[in-house]
Amino acid sequence: MENCIFCKIIRGEIPSWKVYEDEHTYAFFDINPKSEYHTLVIPKKHYVNMFDIPEHEAVNIMKAITKIITIYKEAIGLINVQVVNNNGEHAQQDVFHLHYHIVPRHKSDGQNIIWPKTKNSVKEKFDELLAAIKPN
Ligand code: 5GP
Ligand code: ZN
Repeated sequence: MENCIFCKIIRGEIPSWKVYEDEHTYAFFDINPKSEYHTLVIPKKHYVNMFDIPEHEAVNIMKAITKIITIYKEAIGLINVQVVNNNGEHAQQDVFHLHYHIVPRHKSDGQNIIWPKTKNSVKEKFDELLAAIKPN
């Protein structure tokens, strides 16, 4: 897509620190790193987010993530990592080309946990919530 930052990175129009590349995916360091080796994994084709990508393409991203964390495990001994994916404006997506964050974590790294607060009131609605997604 013409004006998409991540499409520009794939085309080489914006420089990036490439970590990994295959036929379907590209991975590079996040420009605002939350930790050392904070990496973004993106499909080479422009998809807005997980609501947009077909299932057979989504599989390729998960494969790439698995490969990259294995590279980090073997090269730098990584054993704690958060894999984060935001879809939609109200789910903290800022760049509208699908991406997964690989965020290495370490004991006492001084970071907050990247996770929303528990809402206990939701527990009371579990039956209702399941009923709403059952086919008629
Ligand atoms: P989101 O908030 O959409 O989940 O994450 C978007 C991420 O893209 C942010 O962490 C941001 O730092 C990163 N980002 C935005 N523009 C660029 C860029 O030009 N280069 C790189 N390497 N990362 C970028
Ligand atoms: Zn794009």
